[in-house]
Amino acid sequence: MIRRCLVCASDFAENEELEHLSRGRRVAFDPNRGRLWVVCRTCRRWSLIPLEDRWEALEELEKATHDRGRLLSETDNIALLRVGQLEVVRVGGAGLREEAWWRYGRELTQRRAHARKVAVATSVVTGGLIATGFTTGGMSLVAGWLLWQRAPEGLQKAGRWMRFGRRAWMGDATCAKCGRRFDRVSFADRSQLLVLPGERPDAPALSLRCPRCRGWGDEGGLRIEGDAAQHTLRRVLAYEHYTGATDRRVQAATRLIEEAGSAGDLTRILVRDGRRLGDLQRTGAIALEIAANEAREQRLLELEVRELEAVWRREEELAEIIDGELSPFPLLRAFRSRLDG
Ligand SMILES: [Zn+2]
Ligand SMILES: [Zn+2]
Repeated sequence: MIRRCLVCASDFAENEELEHLSRGRRVAFDPNRGRLWVVCRTCRRWSLIPLEDRWEALEELEKATHDRGRLLSETDNIALLRVGQLEVVRVGGAGLREEAWWRYGRELTQRRAHARKVAVATSVVTGGLIATGFTTGGMSLVAGWLLWQRAPEGLQKAGRWMRFGRRAWMGDATCAKCGRRFDRVSFADRSQLLVLPGERPDAPALSLRCPRCRGWGDEGGLRIEGDAAQHTLRRVLAYEHYTGATDRRVQAATRLIEEAGSAGDLTRILVRDGRRLGDLQRTGAIALEIAANEAREQRLLELEVRELEAVWRREEELAEIIDGELSPFPLLRAFRSRLDG
C-alpha cells in the first residue's frame, strides 16, 4: 500500500475511513475509468495507486461516498465531497446537494488544537522564565505563581486583540426612536447584541439597545442590516470562539444544522423571535458561527474545486499513459465490466 507521495515523498497521514486505502486524508477517484489517487497536502500532486491495489478500494470509496458523502462543491466534471475525516474528489457528478458549512466545523476544531499548543508553549516559556527568576533571585514565589497561572490566558487575549482589535463594528447610524448617533460596537458589548430577522432573508439583522431611550430591535436603538450585519456577526462569533471548539461540540452543532435542514434554516429558527447573543447556549452559538460562514466557505470551495479540476486534467493525462503502459493484464476491462454490472 502507498505510504508516501510519489512526487515529493511526504508521508501520507493514516485515515480510519477506508480499509483498502488506509493512507491519505484527501483521495481522488474516477469510477468510470477505474483510477484512484492519493492527493498530497504538501505538493498538491496526485499519486496514482498501482492497478493491483485499486479495485477493492475503488468499490469501497464508491460505496462510502454514496452512503455517507456530503457534497462540498462541484463543477461539471468533478465533485469535492467529505466522507467522515476524508476529503474525496470524485470524477463525475455526485448528484447531491452542496453543503459548504460542513467544512467550517473543521476550522473550529483546528482553532482549538492551535490554542492548546499555544498554551503548552507558553507554559514551557513561562516555566523557563520563572526558573531563571528564582535562580537569579529576582522573583518571589508569589510573582512566579501569578505568572504561571496567567500566562496562557494572557497570551490568548493578546492574540485575540491583535487579530480583531477592539471594535466589532464601526459606522454611522442613528437610533430610529430618539436620533442618538452610533459609530461603533465594542467586542465588550457582544453579549448584549440582539440578533433578529433582517430585511434580507439570507442575513439576520443586529441591534444594540440605545443608552438614551432604551429602544432596540424593531423599536429604535442601533440597527445593522445586510452584509454589514453578516460581517459583524461573523466577527463577533469568531471572537467569542477564539479558542475553537471540541469535536463533540462541533458534532452537536452540525446535528442542529442537519435537523434544521440547512445552515440558513437554522439561523432563521434561532433568531426568529430575536435573541440576545449572550443568551445563546454554546452549541447554538457554534452552530450560528458555522451557518454565518456558509456563504464565504462556498466561495472558497468554488475556487478550490476549479483548481482541483485543472489538476485532475493533468493527472488524468498522466494516468492514462501509466495505466496503458503498465498493465499487462486486462484488469481495467474486468473492473469496468464489473461496474457496469
Ligand atoms: Zn507531494
Ligand atoms: Zn434612542
